[in-house]
Amino acid sequence: MKQTIGFIGLGIMGKPMSSNLLRAGYPLVVHDVVRAPVEELVRAGAADGGSCRGVAERSDVVITMLPDSPDVRTAALGPEGILEGIRPGTIYVDMSTISPITTREVAAAMQAKGVPMLDAPVSGGQKGAIEATLSIMVGGPEEVFQQVRPIFEVMGKNIVHMGEIGAGQVTKACNQIVVGITIMAISEALTLARKSGVDPARVRAALLGGFAQSRILELHGQRILDRNFDPGFRIRLHHKDLKIALETGRATGTPLLATALVHEVLGALQSLGDGERDHSAIVRFVERLAGLDGAGGGR
Ligand code: NAD
Repeated sequence: MKQTIGFIGLGIMGKPMSSNLLRAGYPLVVHDVVRAPVEELVRAGAADGGSCRGVAERSDVVITMLPDSPDVRTAALGPEGILEGIRPGTIYVDMSTISPITTREVAAAMQAKGVPMLDAPVSGGQKGAIEATLSIMVGGPEEVFQQVRPIFEVMGKNIVHMGEIGAGQVTKACNQIVVGITIMAISEALTLARKSGVDPARVRAALLGGFAQSRILELHGQRILDRNFDPGFRIRLHHKDLKIALETGRATGTPLLATALVHEVLGALQSLGDGERDHSAIVRFVERLAGLDGAGGGR
């Protein structure tokens, strides 16, 4: 008999991830503050937990996939939260991208009730969630990681145990630094091409054959050419992730200069009304600075 999995947070990522667990035959109990995705999953065979507490009461493993640190703190430790309903021995896995400092606080509260916790943020985006090819970066006790591994394997491909609790979040912060700065670099490169009268599509194709090639150039370079800024991964969330990276940098005495720059660009884009667009819309900011009409791609 497979463990019953509780899944809280059925957004862009959580909905396809939980659907994959259901398809793999895991009994599933779900909750989200928005009704529509709950109803969709119930139609597909999941049970409605009604609240975070209700999910925790009925599950052997509880997973959260929520936007930010305060959301995880509320869902885990707040009124009608996971801690109120969870039984000792049940495993709690947070797959959201949040601050490693919050992760350690929540883990300590869970530990006091005999609940082991893993932090397991992911990369690979909506596509990776749908196709079950996410990279999963895990922190927490090795034996708990081994127990949860078969569940991770339903949602992802590259599953790595990084170290103690919080190590997954630190790894994710490193990932978001590389992704953010790379999108900025691609945005500047393709804008320079446009301003110089060279076809950006040809520049992307040429670069993909050389040392500057990357998955980000392939996918986000194409998004920029197509003016497709539908999320994907929202500016608002990437801004949050680089804030986490900068806080972690401050706490460890690590200056992160380029990260700080991209963090400010993402903040400016939010002020300009682009917070819900895909992070490839960084190019719109670069274009405006260059006197180009960055407003193209109104989606
Ligand atoms: P999202 O905003 O689409 O989904 C979050 C869901 O959580 C929403 O449905 C929301 O209603 C729900 N929610 C919020 N507070 C809640 C609460 N207290 N109780 C129950 N439900 C609650 O976000 P997403 O894109 O799915 O991202 C989730 C996490 O995964 C974030 O931390 C994000 O940084 C990370 N992530 C996202 C991507 C991506 O490409 N979208 C990729 C990797 C990692």
